[in-house]
Amino acid sequence: MKFFSMLFIFVILISSCAPAAHTIAPTPTSAPAITVTFTSPSEPTMTSTPMAMPSATLEPDDFVFEIDPGAPDEDVAEIKLGINLARAYLRDYAGGDITADKRNFVVKIVLNGTGCCTAFDEYGPRPYFDLSNGWNIVSSDFWDGFDHHLNAGAHEYAHIWQGALGCLTTHHSPLPDWLDEGIAQYVSINSLKLGGYVTDSDITQISYEFSRRIKNRSLALYEVDPPVWPGDIGFLAVKKLIAKAPNGPLALRMVCEGVAAGKSVDESFENAFGISKEEFYKIFH
Ligand SMILES: [Zn+2]
Repeated sequence: MKFFSMLFIFVILISSCAPAAHTIAPTPTSAPAITVTFTSPSEPTMTSTPMAMPSATLEPDDFVFEIDPGAPDEDVAEIKLGINLARAYLRDYAGGDITADKRNFVVKIVLNGTGCCTAFDEYGPRPYFDLSNGWNIVSSDFWDGFDHHLNAGAHEYAHIWQGALGCLTTHHSPLPDWLDEGIAQYVSINSLKLGGYVTDSDITQISYEFSRRIKNRSLALYEVDPPVWPGDIGFLAVKKLIAKAPNGPLALRMVCEGVAAGKSVDESFENAFGISKEEFYKIFH
């Protein structure tokens, strides 16, 4: 793992959700000779074996792509692949993909400089990707130079899945912000892992870098109007929750369906993860 690669991944993972302006990482023309010591007990694995898709065939999608003329075909294909990786992960690990009756949304891929990505517009689900603002830098051996598009596609699709389950819309977000974003990041990163684009060692490194980046680890600060994008701390927290959850990744669905059914956040949280929110906040550090 190269240092620049980690700089890069920060930018991408942040930009995968934040439409606001963000910093663009430098684009090294060759592998930078910078050594970083990781706390990971295992040697990082730099090589993954990308494959087009997990073997099982997805149900046909019903969503429509609206793509600006001039959007690079390769970038568009990567976003589409990211969406399909998320669909496969949700199908195989989280109790199901978005049901067919809720897959009738439009995916917009534009070149207008408005910002990376969002999942909803004023009227409902509408995954949106702007390829023109520089986040599609090709620079990283870790992401094989394009996996950031995969992550963005998978991340925004995960938000649409949350919306389809009933716990997230443009104007309604009953779960804590860190949990909304943490679930989307957990789904996207594990979707890439399912596709062979991310290894366990990569995830160890991502977690290490996220940990180093987060200054204040009080989850309560990231519930509403968090001081920074809550996906970093959210990913770490969700990873920890899923590791202990009685039903594993199915908890991602359960917590959402709980609040969608009218249960309180606290009750839904404990039902899904097997620990109360209050207790988890105490032990998360
Ligand atoms: Zn997000």
